[in-house]
Amino acid sequence: MKLSVIGTGYVGAVHAACMAVIGHEVLGVDTDAAKIAELTQGRPPFYEPGLAELLNRTVRSGRLNFTTSFAEAAAFSDTHFVCVGTPQQPGSLAADLRFLDAAVDALTAEAEGPCLVVGKSTVPVGTAERLANRLRDRDGNGAHEHPEIAWNPEFLREGFAVKDTLTPARLVVGVRSPSADRTLRKVYRPMVNAGVPFISTDPATAELLKVASNAFLATKISFINTMAELCEASGADVVTLANALGEDPRIGHPFLSAGLGFGGSCLPKDIRALSARAEELGVREAVTFLRQIDEINLRQRQRTVDLARTLLGGAFAGRNVAVLGAAFKPDSDDVRDSPALAVAAEIHREGAHVRVHDPEALANARLVHPELDYAATVHDVCDGADIVLHLTEWDLYRGLDPRTLVRLVHAPIVVDARNTLDPVEWRAAGWTVRALGRQAAL
Ligand code: NAD
Repeated sequence: MKLSVIGTGYVGAVHAACMAVIGHEVLGVDTDAAKIAELTQGRPPFYEPGLAELLNRTVRSGRLNFTTSFAEAAAFSDTHFVCVGTPQQPGSLAADLRFLDAAVDALTAEAEGPCLVVGKSTVPVGTAERLANRLRDRDGNGAHEHPEIAWNPEFLREGFAVKDTLTPARLVVGVRSPSADRTLRKVYRPMVNAGVPFISTDPATAELLKVASNAFLATKISFINTMAELCEASGADVVTLANALGEDPRIGHPFLSAGLGFGGSCLPKDIRALSARAEELGVREAVTFLRQIDEINLRQRQRTVDLARTLLGGAFAGRNVAVLGAAFKPDSDDVRDSPALAVAAEIHREGAHVRVHDPEALANARLVHPELDYAATVHDVCDGADIVLHLTEWDLYRGLDPRTLVRLVHAPIVVDARNTLDPVEWRAAGWTVRALGRQAAL
């Protein structure tokens, strides 16, 4: 099949490459000419494990091409996936759908015959219907067939995006017609034949499913972080508690890691947008808990800052703080709403000299927080530090030798805000180790 993928960021670039891998001819479209220039050379404009190899292979094979031209995309294919950003609106909890509207308008203005526009972006429930009405208003009734709008939400995790796209837990499509259902089954046939469940529903259910999934995951994280505060207050240990909770098959282990909480370009804005949409739909009270989930999550950032300040004797002014991690999660260079950078920036604001390390995200971090100091090695970041804060759980940090680091720092104090360092090993090397929710074990 010939497919276009509009918006070639974290989701779209991976989707485009994976669609080419399963045998389609794909044209990626973006308004960012610099990004398209990189992708045309088979180079990913961001860090995602496995993507460079995939892009290189599919671009060289000729099955994957890129352009900034919507006219080319409309002429190339009659099935278009839309993967543009839907960030939080400035000054509001709601999603900003300007990029989505612009992309759909630009594409459909060029489309001459019937076509299928498949949204992959995360959107408020009712968006597919709104877009369909918009096109009908624009084009009038009866003149020609309107583009059909379907929704196929994306569930990939940054850091595992290639694997999650090629072997997702399930494929969900929200369609209005048997022909849209048939087209999407055909697109995904190799994956469905390999056993991936294919769930076909209406667009509203598909749209809501995506935000429901993120709201549930956010709830699990804020739940365990609430338990962490209770552990601290009572002398219990949240890591042991979470491990034992997760053994219950009704609960499960994933998303029960207590610590600094969630960030990134999805969970925070998606639960806020769901709150805003619930209010529009007249069911604000039904999602009161989502606002608490958000507050609990943001409180972990403040609690981490407070803990570090206490360990430094009550003030940051003039102290050297080493920060391990800038990305919002490991295996990504994405720093959008990064909890690690939020903590680092607040500590800097309170007068500390903050030096940050990250294996992949330093360039992006510098753009957002130029006021912080950055270093390319853990050694350089820790040299002379009064405290070390472990804020993003890269494998690299789990493997650090605390006996080597202890010789570099000014004072051997570490805050493990991700609960992935071995406290016994670090303490044996001479460190004072503190972590959210686990006084008793230390
Ligand atoms: P991104 O910011 O990395 O990429 C969006 C791309 O869209 C950019 O390259 C931008 O230049 C392009 N764009 C903007 N306006 C455009 C237009 N009018 N025409 C063509 N291209 C345009 O965003 P992302 O992280 O890939 O997220 C995309 C969507 O997928 C969002 O709705 C997000 O919530 C959702 N999502 C993201 C993830 C994730 O982990 N990043 C996972 C699941 C779903």
